[in-house]
Amino acid sequence: MPVEPHRIVLASNNQGKLAELRALFEPWDVALLNQAEIGIEPAAENAPTFLENALTKARHAAERSGHPAIGDDSGLVVEALGGAPGIYSARFAGETASDAENNVQLVEALAGYPPPHRAMFCCVLVYLHSPNDPTPLVAHGDWHGEIVPEPRGVGGFGYDPHFLIPELRCTAAELSDADKRQHSHRARAARSLVAQYLDARGGRYGS
Ligand code: IMP
Repeated sequence: MPVEPHRIVLASNNQGKLAELRALFEPWDVALLNQAEIGIEPAAENAPTFLENALTKARHAAERSGHPAIGDDSGLVVEALGGAPGIYSARFAGETASDAENNVQLVEALAGYPPPHRAMFCCVLVYLHSPNDPTPLVAHGDWHGEIVPEPRGVGGFGYDPHFLIPELRCTAAELSDADKRQHSHRARAARSLVAQYLDARGGRYGS
């Protein structure tokens, strides 16, 4: 008799994130569902940390779906700006700001500070086996770089054209999708989460 795949809901409507995580979970008999596909509206994101936002999203999706769920949150943390834009990355220049407007705001905010403008992209992923799971799996991924005033490259999204990775000698927007998926904060967090999940599945969740 065929074995049913483990179903996990991803608390995001972002197709890129879904594809990325699906590829990582694919060999492991896991069916990753997008919350929108099963009619779950997004949770409010108003906590002060990436971790709390990711946990809130995962709990909301696990409660509504009855399945295990993964929540994520990510953003840009700039040293000279005391960690801003951080959890406000998507709305740095205002609630409905575009990527271009956020990038202008970032470059203006840094104009008075001497370079290099050290920064990191951060991603937190949280897995909950059930809404009241007392032992969530938590994975962090950081990607260190510098903010440059002139945009470079056309790939990616968000702050990518201003995010220089010195050891790769290019911005995140100059990387191919495959290379970004290899190096990014999200990829690092996702690899860590998959490893923790497989470990827990063999133990505390049963297989
Ligand atoms: P979210 O986690 O998808 O809500 O991302 C929040 C915001 O952080 C995005 O709107 C972007 O401004 C920024 N961000 C997160 N990840 C990336 C990335 O990989 N490249 C560029 N910007 C990012």
